[in-house]
Amino acid sequence: MNFAEVIVDVTTKNIDRPFDYRIPDKWRGMIKKGMRVVVPFGPRKIQGFVINVKDASDLSGRSVKDIEEILDLTPVLTEELLELSDWLTEKTLSYKITALQAMLPPAMKAKYAKEIKVIGNEPLPEPLQSLFSERNALSYSDIEDPRTLKLIQRQVQEGNLEVTYKVNQKTNKKTQRTVSALRSKAELKEALSGLSPQAVKQKAILEFFIEGSEGMTVTVKELVDKTGGSSASLKPLLQKGLLQEGEREVYRDPYQDRMFKKTEPLPLTEEQSRAYEAISEAVENDRHDVFLLHGVTGSGKTEIYLQSIEKVLNAGKEAIVLVPEISLTPQMVHRFKGRFGSQVAVLHSGLSTGEKYDEWRKIHRKEVRLAVGARSAIFAPFENLGMIIIDEEHETSYKQEEMPRYHAKEAAIKRAEHHRCPVVLGSATPTLESYARAKKGVYKLLSLKHRVNSQVMPDVSLVDMREELRNGNRSMFSRALMEELEKTLEKGEQAVLFLNKRGYSSFVMCRDCGYVIQCPHCEISLTYHRFGQRLKCHYCGFETGMPSTCPECTSEHIRYFGTGTQRVEEELTKILPQARVIRMDVDTTSRKGAHEKLLTSFGKGEADILLGTQMIAKGLDFENVTLVGVLSADTMLHIPDFRAAEKTFQLMTQVSGRAGRHEKPGKVIIQTYTPSHYSIQLTKTHDYETFFQQEMMHRRVQAYPPYYYLALITVSHEEVTKTALVTEKIVQYLKANIQGDAKILGPVASPIARIKDRYRYQCVIKYKQDHQLAPLLKNIMDHYKRDIEQKQLTISIDMNPYMMM
Ligand code: ADP
Ligand code: ZN
Ligand code: ZN
Repeated sequence: MNFAEVIVDVTTKNIDRPFDYRIPDKWRGMIKKGMRVVVPFGPRKIQGFVINVKDASDLSGRSVKDIEEILDLTPVLTEELLELSDWLTEKTLSYKITALQAMLPPAMKAKYAKEIKVIGNEPLPEPLQSLFSERNALSYSDIEDPRTLKLIQRQVQEGNLEVTYKVNQKTNKKTQRTVSALRSKAELKEALSGLSPQAVKQKAILEFFIEGSEGMTVTVKELVDKTGGSSASLKPLLQKGLLQEGEREVYRDPYQDRMFKKTEPLPLTEEQSRAYEAISEAVENDRHDVFLLHGVTGSGKTEIYLQSIEKVLNAGKEAIVLVPEISLTPQMVHRFKGRFGSQVAVLHSGLSTGEKYDEWRKIHRKEVRLAVGARSAIFAPFENLGMIIIDEEHETSYKQEEMPRYHAKEAAIKRAEHHRCPVVLGSATPTLESYARAKKGVYKLLSLKHRVNSQVMPDVSLVDMREELRNGNRSMFSRALMEELEKTLEKGEQAVLFLNKRGYSSFVMCRDCGYVIQCPHCEISLTYHRFGQRLKCHYCGFETGMPSTCPECTSEHIRYFGTGTQRVEEELTKILPQARVIRMDVDTTSRKGAHEKLLTSFGKGEADILLGTQMIAKGLDFENVTLVGVLSADTMLHIPDFRAAEKTFQLMTQVSGRAGRHEKPGKVIIQTYTPSHYSIQLTKTHDYETFFQQEMMHRRVQAYPPYYYLALITVSHEEVTKTALVTEKIVQYLKANIQGDAKILGPVASPIARIKDRYRYQCVIKYKQDHQLAPLLKNIMDHYKRDIEQKQLTISIDMNPYMMM
């Protein structure tokens, strides 16, 4: 094999294809599909992926360049993943390189350092001559003055300077210093007797090696810990040649120091057994079934996952479990590590780049057989997959909102097809799409209707907050919730208070004229941050101080609205001064490990009330929690998204599920301004089935998924007329060319009409089958290629949008 086809790290339309490179003789036979290499590309050296090797190239000998460097000694992408990347590219209309990179940990994405080198012999004009007088290369990032850059540009054109690109790898490995004995035990004993009596620490170290096993290697840290010695006392022993130092590669394992109590499989309930048997049967027969495990909160879905995984591991295969980022809590990690110990790799965004890379390598080296992680863990490079589980399958975080815009569920099904293994989708509130598929028999439905140990579902009551206001209660706590909180505290039990923050934030408004302070660059109100009294834009990062008067009418009655967790906490301590409150939000959990510390503390009963946002809605399982309060159920109901009702029902059901999961019965109080809405009404009876029926009716009437597929095209440009015009043209083109049963909506301004000074318009396509939509969309992208490459126009296509903003 003399040539390699390489996908290079450049994201433009024209370059989105493999390029041929010659394999230098020294690497013949070594370079394989799925390895990363560095190749020359124009004036640069860039990273690329080998996707094929072959004997001959169609290009004439001279124009084929040599591969410059190999970055991997074994392929980092398996053949299966390479194929999957093709599918990803097709499905999401992304660049090939973007799809390939999405499958690897961020540490393996190339970083480039731009360097400027002197190549001519002519003296350079000042100030360049002095700049380069001492060295012959400068880093591009060191040059700040744009005038200097201009000069450099000219010299590059004249051939006196050259810009080169170096590929920098971030894939550094962590090592630890180790010590081992260099002499026999007899010799060490002899040395020991020769030491001066004061050298107590040196003695202790020597004794440690004399007593230890032959040829033992320990880390310096361990040695110091065990002998009470120090680096200083170690030094003379090394110098005398009694001991020797070494280095050992270690993983940055964020969980290494923690103890995981080993757990044993629980005897399954009858419902659990039925589900488990069905999954087992598919595992035994290597059948690619997709199961929808629909089980009420607390029905013991995780135990079914654990026992199914055990079955897979016992068969010598591997498994992937996807868990939403937000519920990948230490508690969750414990459940898997407790059962499978060191066979587990955990991948989530809380890890550092290095830690993520190390966890990935454990999978790659086949040192673990179970990967538990958020969305991107779906690309774990296992080669003998026996099962993929997606917990909380309704979670929108499984959809990636940047290129490649894939949904982990679809990728999971694709991979499982290849490996002929089952997929298990679990949820108490499945997406309408999944449940509809299960009803049609495309997925196999497994239902768990009861909680384990037949605890009853918590008793949910709704409180109409309009009524409260009419009765003169202006507080954010209804009387019912107050009473229940007091009762819970009296009984020595715990409560969880949930503030539904998504969909609205604390904005600043003038009470006299109603003026809302907006970002000058984006069509969105600024968010108030109590810390430093700042106003921030969550889309572009714009920041400004809090004004003391209204910019519109100069009134002083300008203040922030919306209830932040801090304000809730303040009010709570006023009305329930005896309550110990733990607040969990982005502010209190930003430090590493803070999340876990707060939860552990709550679990130990060090607080009475856990107050928080979305991050406490899921996965928490505390014995003593008997009350759950939702401060406002409706905030998500009014976002411009056809899934608003579904999301509201899901969230309310999840939050309610935190109460009364063990012996003590639970109570839930949901405060709302729209108590009659079916998505809120039906949480009272935990009635998923009826919710499904009702919501399906709406979806049918409005032609939304699962009745129709959706695609969202968003166009953005600095000029509003151009934005509208391009979108209009796209709509016309689609209307003229799309076949059959499709609807094209738009052009309309996007719900957020401007971001970072760029206007945004959108068009929504609703279609039944794939009416050759992809080729049409590709034509559109081709048509606007130039404008897009010049970065003036952006057209983003989302083939399965979850964010309609
Ligand atoms: P879900 O994920 O369906 O909400 P979990 O898996 O968290 O439910 O289970 C709820 C609780 O029930 C957990 O504390 C779990 O340990 C316990 N549990 C699950 N299965 C059994 C069983 N068969 N016997 C006893 N306890 C169980
Ligand atoms: Zn005003
Ligand atoms: Zn902004």
